[in-house]
Amino acid sequence: MGKLDGYKVDLKGMTDDTVSYHWQADNDFFSAVQGPEIKHGLLDVALRVKRTSGAFKLEFQLKGEVEVTCDRCLEPMDLPIETQTTLDVVMGDDYADDGDQVTVPEREGTINVAWNIYEFAALQIPLRHVHETCEQETLSNSPSMGRTDPRWAELKKMINK
Ligand SMILES: [Zn+2]
Repeated sequence: MGKLDGYKVDLKGMTDDTVSYHWQADNDFFSAVQGPEIKHGLLDVALRVKRTSGAFKLEFQLKGEVEVTCDRCLEPMDLPIETQTTLDVVMGDDYADDGDQVTVPEREGTINVAWNIYEFAALQIPLRHVHETCEQETLSNSPSMGRTDPRWAELKKMINK
């Protein structure tokens, strides 16, 4: 995890009630995270940490592109990503993540947000993702959009006679 040490956020040591971070999540980031959906990309990540009484609100902003595989031709395609999301963090005895809220051990007082950033980006990938050109090919090949086969027209004529 050495490569991702830079994504560690020190909550316990916050000297201000608001602290900002900024990262460029690049190919090195994605290869270090080793997530299943995204292997390459370049994301501009801004994080603002707000401390309230006993809790922390982490506001993420992601903007950039990630590379995914086209569903149709299986070639890589760039997918623009732009999203904002928040994560609530509290201190506790042990690490826990219930989806909406993360608990970090008070004795450590830090959270590494590398995986969270990856997940926020991966959540933006639509279920179906194809190149624009591949999408057009799909449309023109579908029977409702394509021209009627002339042999069918001939056959219909014969049947109707
Ligand atoms: Zn394609």
